[in-house]
Amino acid sequence: MNILVINCGSSSLKYQLIDMNEEKVLAKGLAERIGIEGSRIKHKTTGKEEVIIEKPMSNHKVVLELVLNALVDPEHGAIKSMDEISAVGHRVVHGGEKFASSVKIDDKVMKALNECVELAPLHNPPNIMGIEACKELMPNTPMVGVFDTAFHQTMPNSNYIYPLPYELYEKYGIRKYGFHGTSHKYVSKRTAEILKKDIKDLKIITCHLGNGASICAVQNGQSVDTSMGFTPLEGLAMGTRSGDMDPAIIPFVMEKEKLSLEEVNNLLNKKSGVLGISGVSSDFRDIEEAAQNGNKRAKLALDVFVNRVKKYIGAYMMLMGGVDAIVFTAGIGENSVEIREMVCSGLEGLNIELDAEKNKIRGKEAIVSKDSSKVKILVVPTNEELMIARDTKELA
Ligand code: AMP
Repeated sequence: MNILVINCGSSSLKYQLIDMNEEKVLAKGLAERIGIEGSRIKHKTTGKEEVIIEKPMSNHKVVLELVLNALVDPEHGAIKSMDEISAVGHRVVHGGEKFASSVKIDDKVMKALNECVELAPLHNPPNIMGIEACKELMPNTPMVGVFDTAFHQTMPNSNYIYPLPYELYEKYGIRKYGFHGTSHKYVSKRTAEILKKDIKDLKIITCHLGNGASICAVQNGQSVDTSMGFTPLEGLAMGTRSGDMDPAIIPFVMEKEKLSLEEVNNLLNKKSGVLGISGVSSDFRDIEEAAQNGNKRAKLALDVFVNRVKKYIGAYMMLMGGVDAIVFTAGIGENSVEIREMVCSGLEGLNIELDAEKNKIRGKEAIVSKDSSKVKILVVPTNEELMIARDTKELA
C-alpha cells in the first residue's frame, strides 16, 4: 500500500510517496516559488538521480499535476500508474477544537476546515488548496487530514485557557491550541519504544527545536501542555519569531514606531527571535559561527534561546511532578551538539546528566545521557511524514 503525503505551504509543496508495507520512502520532493517567477520542483526517487523540473507553476493544482507525472515517469518515477497510490494524507496546520484526531476528508470535513481558516489565515488556505487540487486530480482516491493541533487537544482547560475575559474564548475560540503535534506525538512514541517502556508510565518533555520551535509535556502518552499557543508565535524564541513577551510591548512599539497591525505582526513573526537579537541570521549555524568569532549579540541570541528552553523544561517538570525523559528533535535539536549541551548544563543536581561524548552526534536516534542519569536525554529525528502516512493508512 502506497501513501502520498502532501504538505502545502503558501508558495511551496513538500511530498513523499511511502510504501507502507515496509514504511519505506519511494520518492520525495519539494516544489518552491509556486505562483512566482522561478518555480521549480526538486524530485528524487529512492535509488535514482535527483531531477529538477523548471516550469511556470501558477498554482498548487499545476504543481500536483507535475508531481504526479514525475511519480509515474518511466525514467525518474517510482510507480507505473497513479492507481498504485492508495490514499493521500494531507498535513493541515489548524484543526481548531473540531479535530482531536486525524480524519477522512469528505464534504462535511471540508466545511469544517474552511471554518478553521480564521484561526490560521496564513497556513490553512494553502492546505485547503492542496486538498482541493488533489480531489480534482484524483477524485476516487481517499484523502485524510492530519492536524498539527490534534495531539494537543488532550490539554486540560487549566492549561489552555488564557487569563482574558472568558467571553473571548466563547466568541472567537481564543485559547491555546499548540502546534507541531504530529512531531511531538511521533517523538514521544519513539522515546517510549527506545526506552522499552510503556508510554503510559512515562513523563516526557519533547523539545522540537527548528526554525519554528515548541516544547511539549507528554504524560501517559498525552499532551498536557505545550509552549505554542493560539498561534505558533507563543513560547520559545525562534528563528524569526519573538515567542513570549510582555503583551504591553505591542501597543507601545506600535505607537512609537507608527506601525500598522500588519507591520507589527510582521515584526513579531519575521524580524524577531534570534534574527532580531543577533542581527546576523535566523539560522543557528550562522549564529553559532558568529558567536564563536566573538559576536556578542549572536552569543546573546543563543543565551536567550537556551534560557527559554530551560525555563519551559523546568515549568513542565513542575506541571507533571517530574520527568523521565527529555527529547531533542527538529533541525537544531537533532543537529546542534552545542545547543543540547547549553540546555542541559547545570542540571546535574536535578538528575539530568548529559554525556558529552555520546552527545557528539547529529541527526541520529540516540540516548545521550550518562548511564547514571535518572532522567534520560534522547535525540530522536522527527518524521512527521511517516506519522501522517500511518494515520492515513489506518483511516483510508
Ligand atoms: P527545521 O525547521 O526543523 O528544518 O530546522 C531548521 C533549522 O535547524 C535551521 O534554521 C538551522 O538553524 C538548524 N540547523 C540545521 N542544522 C544545524 C546544525 N548542524 N547546527 C545547528 N543548527 C542547525
